[in-house]
Amino acid sequence: DFIRKRLVIGNWKMHGTSVQNAALLSSLGDYAGSAELAVCVPFPYLAQASQSLEGSAISWGAQDVSAHAQGAYTGEVSAAMLADFACRWVLVGHSERRAYHGETDALVADKTQAAIGAGLTPVVCIGETLAEREAGRLQEVMLRQLDQVLALGGDALSRIVLAYEPVWAIGTGQSATPELAQEAHAFIRAQLERAGQPQVRVLYGGSVNAANAASLFEMPDIDGALVGGASLQAQEFLRIAAS
Ligand code: PEP
Repeated sequence: DFIRKRLVIGNWKMHGTSVQNAALLSSLGDYAGSAELAVCVPFPYLAQASQSLEGSAISWGAQDVSAHAQGAYTGEVSAAMLADFACRWVLVGHSERRAYHGETDALVADKTQAAIGAGLTPVVCIGETLAEREAGRLQEVMLRQLDQVLALGGDALSRIVLAYEPVWAIGTGQSATPELAQEAHAFIRAQLERAGQPQVRVLYGGSVNAANAASLFEMPDIDGALVGGASLQAQEFLRIAAS
């Protein structure tokens, strides 16, 4: 039997300064809870995160990665570079990357592969827009977003984490209800089972906070959370982890 260990990952997005980060990281540094806890910081602050969190129970990662190994790709950051800063995690295909940077399902799969190749754990983000949900296309959209990632095969899949993040719930203060989230997670779990990988963890993301985390985490197919806004406040983030 396998255990899907609880996992809470903060996504700082494009927030923070060295001074603010120092305070936040030092408040997190003595975390000793039972859930796995991590932060995904902007690229320029990876060195700061690694120096501050080294030896702590908190791991760190980045918010994006290049699909290419190296070369003439100005502005991109490779998976090997992230590994060089001892990243454990990297977000891949966050809805903001898909929406503002045109990331396709094929590119998301390539980035996932690149991350795995460097020994990172990609946190592959999927989720529908409000229009897609209202049009009854939730499952179709999730299948399309999962297809090329699942096609990477068992070896790769055993090393990923998925995050279900309905776009309408991200940064809106309007979290999915535990029941709606569970419905989507159960569907994702069924696809993972079909791919022979039922042990892959599936996080929920979208306006998670200290007040709603516990009821989401009670759901059988929700293994933790990807947390944006609430990960910028140490006490709020630690309360989510304690849930
Ligand atoms: C996110 O950025 O992945 C996210 C879920 O943001 P928020 O928690 O702010 O909705």
